[in-house]
Amino acid sequence: MYLEKIGDGGASAGHGLIHAVLAFLEDQRLDPTPLNYSFAYRVVSEPAGALALEVARRTDGGIRLTGGEVEQLGNAIDGAADVAAGRPNAPPVTPTAPATPEPDIAAAEALVTETLRQVAGFATMVSEIRSETQDFGRDLAASADALQRSTPIASTDAAVAELARITAAMRARVEIAEARLEQATREASDLREQLAAAHDDARRDPLTDLPNRRAFEEAVEAAQHGPVHIAMCDVDHFKAINDQHGHPVGDRVLRAIGTTLARECPGHLVARYGGEEFAVLITGIGTGAARALLEKARIAVGKRRYRLRESDTLVNGITLSAGLVTMTPGERLLSAIERVDALLYEAKRHGRNQSVGENG
Ligand code: GH3
Ligand code: MG
Ligand code: MG
Repeated sequence: MYLEKIGDGGASAGHGLIHAVLAFLEDQRLDPTPLNYSFAYRVVSEPAGALALEVARRTDGGIRLTGGEVEQLGNAIDGAADVAAGRPNAPPVTPTAPATPEPDIAAAEALVTETLRQVAGFATMVSEIRSETQDFGRDLAASADALQRSTPIASTDAAVAELARITAAMRARVEIAEARLEQATREASDLREQLAAAHDDARRDPLTDLPNRRAFEEAVEAAQHGPVHIAMCDVDHFKAINDQHGHPVGDRVLRAIGTTLARECPGHLVARYGGEEFAVLITGIGTGAARALLEKARIAVGKRRYRLRESDTLVNGITLSAGLVTMTPGERLLSAIERVDALLYEAKRHGRNQSVGENG
């Protein structure tokens, strides 16, 4: 039914809705299961409905729904009842869009459309199978009645023949249903793989193949145990590299720096935070060890030499400046980033090619 609504709204309205469904699932970190899709669809398509209002109440202040809550709310609040009891003055729930627009959003929307189509297909298939089963049940009961009532041999034969016909027809239908279910299951598993790949793409920087800023932020949020340090590294005078050697060389240098940093920080998360900035999430070691690790990585980057394929000349002396902070208990990432940026700026001001921690 909801697919028809998407159709009614026209292609662009439908796409907006799909985007919103995807954003809601992302936001709530809900797995892309058919149940969660239809739940998300109901929430975003009826922002003033009882379900959306309840979800807004429960997620106030950034709290996420659990899988159990989705199931419980989905069952407890009936979609049709929402519409009937529609509250025109209720505030609409606007799902938050991802912080940065994803380049592969069109592909993700296509996947969601496909998933919604599949969910609808599953629902139709189940109700068709159910109604066929009921038909067969009724026919079987009628035949069984006829058998009981029949006394002459001829009519017993007729009833048995009828039973055989019903059974054969039912077996044929079951085989068809099984084939359709098998096909649908295959499609669902393909879709799951594609969604997993899309999930991965959305968290990876295509140039360096490192985790991107989004992945970094999620990892920081998930890091709960032990000290959590954040290092921000910025390439020194990178603009000059581009200016002297061209953008493609700049790209190659960025890739090499990413590889070096990742190699030097095993067990920690090195991400391309943006442009020529790399962030490192260092966990499970003390501040002194974190600082030593960062220094070692920074020096390793500075020692690298790059030979330009085009002219066979050597480029060296590409260095990093870095800041390092330890997150305080309960600190938000934004605050830690502000602090680490201030230290990075200090490193730049004091001559670059160095790192600055909280104690200098
Ligand atoms: P500073 O030492 O103060 O950091 O100087 P900088 O030149 O590194 O800093 P600035 O912010 O002036 O310039 C950063 C440059 O990084 C400008 C931008 O074109 C370049 N850059 C950002 N992303 C990429 C990229 O993906 N590839 C290439 N080749 N260059 C990039
Ligand atoms: Mg910069
Ligand atoms: Mg720079």
